Amino acid sequence: MAQRPVMELAGTIRHDGGGGVLDDLDTVRGAQRWLQQQPGLLAAAPGDLVVDEGVRDAVVGVRRAVRALFARVVSPAPPSPADAHRLLPLDEALGLLNAAAAREPVTPQLHWPAEGPPTSGLLSAEDDPGVRLVAALARDAVDFLSGPQRERLRACHAPRCVRYFIKSHGRQEWCKPSCGNRARVARHYERTREAAGRD
Ligand SMILES: [Zn+2]
Repeated sequence: MAQRPVMELAGTIRHDGGGGVLDDLDTVRGAQRWLQQQPGLLAAAPGDLVVDEGVRDAVVGVRRAVRALFARVVSPAPPSPADAHRLLPLDEALGLLNAAAAREPVTPQLHWPAEGPPTSGLLSAEDDPGVRLVAALARDAVDFLSGPQRERLRACHAPRCVRYFIKSHGRQEWCKPSCGNRARVARHYERTREAAGRD
């Protein structure tokens, strides 16, 4: 199941399985490929979306803001090691995120079909799907960071993992079971080494 857009966005910086870090958005092609896998975002940006350097750059900007704010959310626990050394200061991150959200002024609307419950939608006067997409991403980040899920955000500190994730149960420490296994193996190795060191 796809996660909410802001989590998918943060996850475009990920470990490559070999100790390095991959960026899914490092080229226009990569950004195109990633966006094709985001049905929620594409629905918010109807029309002929052209993913060019401008759109890529704007999406990467929102990601920089989001990852800096995620680091603040998980603090005092350490942030994801992928970009811990180059996080934006708070005011810059907020400025970037809010400017991206402000690119598309929207008005909430109520819809009530003959069958079923009422739903809400957003009315927009913006025509450019690229602008709408970036603004939708930024809005999701604003909702997430000001909402109840924020408190369950964690950075996974299994060896080599750089992911942020939303904790789904009380004592969850790792983003997925394979990270838990790697972390246990690493701890066991550490303990054996320490024990050997004492001899
Ligand atoms: Zn992990």
